[in-house]
Amino acid sequence: METSAVTRLRYEELLFDIACVCNCCCMCLCACMCLESSVCRRGGGGGVHMGSSWRWQLSWAMRVAMRWCRLCCPHRGWRGGRNSGKVLQLWGYSKLLLKSLYYNSLCNSDTLLDCAFEPIYWIVDNLTRWFGVVFVCLVILLTTSVVVIVYLFVLPTILSTYPVHWFIWHLCCGHWLLVMVVFHYYKAATTSPGHPPKEKIHLPSVSICKKCITPKPPRTHHCSICDICVLKMDHHCPWLNNCVGHFNHRYFFSFCLYMTLGCIYCSISSRDLFLEAYGAIESYYQTPPPAYTFRETTAHKSIIFLWVLTSSVAVALGGLTLWHAILISRGETSVERHINRKETKRLKEKGKVFRNPYHHGKMNNWRLVLGVETKSHWFTRVLLPSNHLPRGDGIMWDYRQKRPHGHLTFAV
Ligand SMILES: [Zn+2]
Ligand SMILES: [Zn+2]
Repeated sequence: METSAVTRLRYEELLFDIACVCNCCCMCLCACMCLESSVCRRGGGGGVHMGSSWRWQLSWAMRVAMRWCRLCCPHRGWRGGRNSGKVLQLWGYSKLLLKSLYYNSLCNSDTLLDCAFEPIYWIVDNLTRWFGVVFVCLVILLTTSVVVIVYLFVLPTILSTYPVHWFIWHLCCGHWLLVMVVFHYYKAATTSPGHPPKEKIHLPSVSICKKCITPKPPRTHHCSICDICVLKMDHHCPWLNNCVGHFNHRYFFSFCLYMTLGCIYCSISSRDLFLEAYGAIESYYQTPPPAYTFRETTAHKSIIFLWVLTSSVAVALGGLTLWHAILISRGETSVERHINRKETKRLKEKGKVFRNPYHHGKMNNWRLVLGVETKSHWFTRVLLPSNHLPRGDGIMWDYRQKRPHGHLTFAV
């Protein structure tokens, strides 16, 4: 292996020498031509018969090239003194530059594969970024369609069927959920998740980001779609077209929670209407078909769309919300879940127990994420729209934890 590496290096050095000699010759020829033309101009055309002939130019170029070669090889009798030292320095410097371009002790097959797949990563990242815009439009469109159907068909039916106090309850509950969903979605999509400052040098960093070339504070990870480091990164959400990090984690979770509750509410409220509409649609195929008006057939189809959509979203988003609730209870982000799982396995093999340094107890973890400091905050900051900032700056983290026993291991 070593012999082949040495042979390759020698071969590359030889190629480099040949390329340099060729370049030098070309440079010399150019210099000759320039000098010659300047001499001709100074001579005013009088004694230029020799200088203007192509043979003279060629011979002069050869002489300059030979002199250059002697400069590069002083051991062959050249005593250039200061000039030769400079040329040697230049020569060594150019060789070093060339080698630094491709020679790297960290260069391995993974790096080469990364380089080879870089265009594919680029395409995927850019497509995801654009899909994010489409997904955001889809969320807005579907939510608006559900709200319009509820206003047009569900609420009038509730008003005509149920007593007034039930109608008022539906009105209040539905609008509270709608306000919470819209507020948290807007804030989650538009709030920056937080990035490590580039101008600060003395950061409590655990590593250096290879892409941003900046220190990474604890819990910070690089998002390849946003192409930036994100503080306490959870994941990149295409439905928000934004990263979920330190400053918008609460908005993201609240949006998931209230959207799930809203979907469950719509699904339960429109269940009777859905069964009625389903029966009516089945009767369309009877002979003779029942005489429904255009408004009635539109109402049937809209309610079926509403129920199917809200039920499916309630199940899918409910699962996601539950998963994030478990993560918050454990004091982990989605990224840390993978890291901590690996670390637990690794330490278990060594007979040690892994402890998450960011786990401060279930209730404290929830307080930290939701920004709850007093009892009244559960009402004002969780059940009502609030744009308060989370505790901490996302750079400095509190590692202090009360552990009665066991090893304490930090994983950052
Ligand atoms: Zn980065
Ligand atoms: Zn991102």
